[in-house]
Amino acid sequence: MFAIALALLACAPLLGLSSQSAPVGTSASAAAVDVHSYHLEVDFSAGLDSVEIVAVVDLLWRRTLRQLRLDFASPREEGAKDAPAGLSVTSVEISVDGEWIATRFEHSSDVLTIDLGAEQAAGGSGRVRVVAAGVPRDGLLLGRNDAGEPVAFADNWPNRARHWIPSVDHPSDKALFTFDVEVPDAYRSVAVGELIEERPLPAARWRTRWRTRAPLATKVATLGVARFQVRREPSGEVPVAISSWVYSGDERALSALAVAPRVLAEMVEMLGPFPYAKLANVQSTTRYGGMENAGAIFYRESALHGDPERVERLVAHEIAHQWFGDAVSEAEWNDVWLSEGFATYLTALFVERTRGVEAFREVMRSARDRVVAAAHEHPSATVRPAAVGEDLAGLLGAHTYQKGAWILHMLRERIGDVAFSEALRGYLEVHRHGNATTADFFAAVRWARERTDLLTDGGRGIESEMRSWLETPGLPRLEGGWRPTPGGVQLVIEQTQDGALRQLPLEVAVIVSRPEVEDAPFAAGEANRLTVPARRRSEIVIAAPAGEVVEVRLDPRVRLLFEQGSWQRLP
Ligand SMILES: [Zn+2]
Repeated sequence: MFAIALALLACAPLLGLSSQSAPVGTSASAAAVDVHSYHLEVDFSAGLDSVEIVAVVDLLWRRTLRQLRLDFASPREEGAKDAPAGLSVTSVEISVDGEWIATRFEHSSDVLTIDLGAEQAAGGSGRVRVVAAGVPRDGLLLGRNDAGEPVAFADNWPNRARHWIPSVDHPSDKALFTFDVEVPDAYRSVAVGELIEERPLPAARWRTRWRTRAPLATKVATLGVARFQVRREPSGEVPVAISSWVYSGDERALSALAVAPRVLAEMVEMLGPFPYAKLANVQSTTRYGGMENAGAIFYRESALHGDPERVERLVAHEIAHQWFGDAVSEAEWNDVWLSEGFATYLTALFVERTRGVEAFREVMRSARDRVVAAAHEHPSATVRPAAVGEDLAGLLGAHTYQKGAWILHMLRERIGDVAFSEALRGYLEVHRHGNATTADFFAAVRWARERTDLLTDGGRGIESEMRSWLETPGLPRLEGGWRPTPGGVQLVIEQTQDGALRQLPLEVAVIVSRPEVEDAPFAAGEANRLTVPARRRSEIVIAAPAGEVVEVRLDPRVRLLFEQGSWQRLP
């Protein structure tokens, strides 16, 4: 997802997570069952101010069970004034020989515990039906758009699907989804998956069925309801139905979303086939600037009214997520960089392809500035924490987005464009519609380097270096300066960071003055490639072009993640 503020390539959520008594970031039963599919009938009231949900959940038993525990937020009896109480369960049934049989259940502490009637053997399967009604506290937001019109949007990330879907609410349990959405006739619904059918019902109601062909994580399985204005976009050579859904009359948002086909075409060229049957870009009330729901990306209402270039990058970020995060989902939350770092870097690559290398370097420079600022603000944050605590929203920030992107950038510089591209595609192909870990990504990197004959270090050297970047807080800080020597320049480079010293591949450019050349009185020599040793202080002499040296620039091509401290001509 993407920041509300739409700061360039930035992300932080607007709001904290709602308080929950169930453990955050975990699921009641991820280890005990595997959900195969959810079939959800979602009926909205006339004013979109309450909802009834009939959820049929098909599951495989991974352990022998007598009770099934699903993540499902329990209602609050004494909620704050004007805060919704949450959905109340009215019935729970289990399927026995094809018949629905009412069963006992308990709904407390945000877990729905269902009596399965008899012991269910591991390896078997079952089906339960849950009926619930009311106003969800979170997850499915019944509210109003900026114009004051009733709208309803699901906003599940990270673990808020449990507020309206009795589920295994963890990205490791992907499942098929069918949404049967019934709304007042003035409204239309959009959801993940393909449009299977839509038809009018008696009493001025309208029913639409959406069904996914690919399994999805709950975090990106969504639906939205509003008075939409819908436009089909030209798909060009990409075999995907592209559409834009905006609040009726919002021409500005509609025109902003016209970039989607071009963005999608670039991403398909970089990453291979789009993972889903359709791509709907939807104006919504998501708390994020953009939210990468699978094949139905949600954008905050105002996010589509901003500067067109920023909107384009927001759309690129969310479309990149369709591969990274959606089709291949992190198996555990501490690997969230597999979603956000990749979406951030793919956005930079999109800029490189469409606006050139200087624009790309500007994006990476700006990302590096954010990493530096974040390292001062949160000195212990890492891209990939060993474990994730209660605060899943704390996973969002420059440490997962921009630093994750920078580690991919340095990996690309080290292994080359061909191997890097092969690694991305191989990783996506192997784990498509499943889950992956950081180790899975590096396995794809090794495979790609073997294929492209670049594997010179047994494959482990670069991996352990990149893992160290992922798992170590902070970044190197370089300071010092330079002084001319006969025929060259002496560099004095100090690593002044608090953390470990690193061996660093660094480029420097020597700028000389040539007053005799009128058109170009200053010239930069070729970038010199150095290896800065893992020492506190290093002195390195490099060659310089003819002329008076006036400046030495560190990392002119924006290839290394570091903080530049004081850097000047030395006496
Ligand atoms: Zn994102």
